[in-house]
Amino acid sequence: MQQNGKIGVTTENIFPIIKKFLYSDHEIFLRELVSNAVDATQKLKTYASSGEFKGEPGDLSVNIKIDKDKGTLTVSDNGIGMMSEEIDKYINQIAFSSANEFLDKYKKDANSIIGHFGLGFYSSFMVSGKVEIVTKSYKEEAGAVKWSCDGSPEYTIEEVEKDGRGTDIILYIDDDNKNFLEQGEIDRLLKKYCRFLPVPIIFGKKTEWKDGKSVETEEDNVINDANPLWTRKPADLKDEDYKKFYRELYPFSDEPMFWIHLNVDYPFKLTGILYFPQIKSNVDMNRNKIQLYSNQVFVTDSVEGIVPEFLTLMHGVLDSPDIPLNVSRSYLQSDRNVKKISNHITKKVADRLEEIFKNSRAQFEEKWDSLKLFVEYGMLTDEKFYDRAHKFCLLKNTDGRTFTFEEYKTLISANQTDKEGNLVYLYANNKDEQYSCISTAKDKGYDVILFDGQLDVHMAGQLEQKFEKSRFVRVDSDTVNNLVQKEDGKEVNLTDKQKEELKEAFISLLPQIDKAEFIVDYKALDEKAAPVQITQNEFMRRMKDMSAMQTGMGFYGEMPDSYNLVLNVEHPLIKKIMSDIDGKDKEAVAAYAAGSANIRQLIDLSLLSNGMLKGEALNNFVKRNMENI
Ligand code: ADP
Repeated sequence: MQQNGKIGVTTENIFPIIKKFLYSDHEIFLRELVSNAVDATQKLKTYASSGEFKGEPGDLSVNIKIDKDKGTLTVSDNGIGMMSEEIDKYINQIAFSSANEFLDKYKKDANSIIGHFGLGFYSSFMVSGKVEIVTKSYKEEAGAVKWSCDGSPEYTIEEVEKDGRGTDIILYIDDDNKNFLEQGEIDRLLKKYCRFLPVPIIFGKKTEWKDGKSVETEEDNVINDANPLWTRKPADLKDEDYKKFYRELYPFSDEPMFWIHLNVDYPFKLTGILYFPQIKSNVDMNRNKIQLYSNQVFVTDSVEGIVPEFLTLMHGVLDSPDIPLNVSRSYLQSDRNVKKISNHITKKVADRLEEIFKNSRAQFEEKWDSLKLFVEYGMLTDEKFYDRAHKFCLLKNTDGRTFTFEEYKTLISANQTDKEGNLVYLYANNKDEQYSCISTAKDKGYDVILFDGQLDVHMAGQLEQKFEKSRFVRVDSDTVNNLVQKEDGKEVNLTDKQKEELKEAFISLLPQIDKAEFIVDYKALDEKAAPVQITQNEFMRRMKDMSAMQTGMGFYGEMPDSYNLVLNVEHPLIKKIMSDIDGKDKEAVAAYAAGSANIRQLIDLSLLSNGMLKGEALNNFVKRNMENI
């Protein structure tokens, strides 16, 4: 007997809407159908163990078949099946109020619509002209039924013959979606969405090469691993298992450094394995490597909003049925479960790092270069993580030695405390360019931190706020005596006229350097200290460095770099120049300077030791010095 009816949607015709709005995410229909099949299978298992189902469960694999001639794709399971009343209840009466309004709101996010309204099965109409369900319930009295619908709200339902229990969903793929009849495409989608589903998913037969061509074997082509590593007990697993699983997930990546096996039952369910990858340099490069699953069904590989931003640098899988997957991202961020889960993950990550630091510090130090970006990113963006990580975050000095914050403080406090009682942390961001400043600082018994990472400037700012009475100062930001000012400097006893003359003598010989300007500064340093030095103000330079990383600070970014040309008025060479030009007018000073090999040489040497002597000026310097040999 055939029965006709109209699907219970309040919107006149839901299918065109589905097709139109969900266009970009067509492929997820397969995920929806296969997960329904898996659910039906799991339910059967549950009924079998509770005694509600008394028959033989038999083979419980889910089968996917394509028939190119008929233009069909079929998903079959041996699960609980449906009675005709159940089809009516679950398929025909879709709870679909105010569909238009909802679709309008979430047009951009196909996932939301689909799960939210139990539209899973209906997503098959995105790719099909007609869909049939042939199903037979596990209940003994049940006969098989066939439901058929061609994409209009009208459907037919009739009794049919079917051998075994379970459900076949048959899609008559429409002309626009012929790609879903291609072996390769379905294979790709099954691997993407169904790779770790908990029951065997079979797609045709395995093939092998015979006589120069690929032929089918007798063996089923099972595309999934039904017991992925994260669902197994950590106690049963070895390091090699974790590494192997990582290779399966990311075949082209370097070996991970460490991993965390998550396993929470209460107050939410969460399993997963997170790996610390080796991080080379670019923050963005390895984002979106965490795959999110819900009961082993792949959902997404963009986990922003679900885990704190810095954790997106990690790799691995998270599986939680408690993360509401089918809602918008902004909703996710305010969801309480999601917050709890994300706090839990942050805590576990900090625990693990602390554990490695405590138990195998040598290994931790060895991996520090890779871990650093991750740890600093976490400390800068997540207060809770900072509170944990300040115990194991390391400072590395220019000699390659590493210290905890506490250890470093002890190291420098005797020698690097200034007259106001501030601890001065000296750092360099380029070992080669700042070589001469580093070595003068070291000669004075100072230690210099190497801050050459992408987040180090920000770190310096944060640590200044967190540490009491502390300053971070780059080694080239002042003359070595002034880096850590221990007593008031000697006064400079020059008249304005003398200053003016000296300035003229040096400025007139400075080569033009793009985007750099110089301010002449006079200091009464030790007579053995360098006669001329170039320094760069810490504050201005840091503002520029930060603006290079952020937008919105463009003002500082546009400004030229400002340098101090520091003249040591106690140095015999400077004294000699001063007496030579004493009382001369501007032109006479410039003429004197032009003829002075000393001034030229002093300027060039100071530029050279800051890596600023380049191009023509450098060439002239080399030539001049060759001639003098
Ligand atoms: P959801 O899976 O979100 O509930 P669907 O539209 O995908 O929404 O499915 C609606 C209902 O139809 C399911 O809850 C289930 O009861 C039933 N159903 C769908 N597919 C199958 C199947 N292969 N076997 C048994 N029942 C099914």
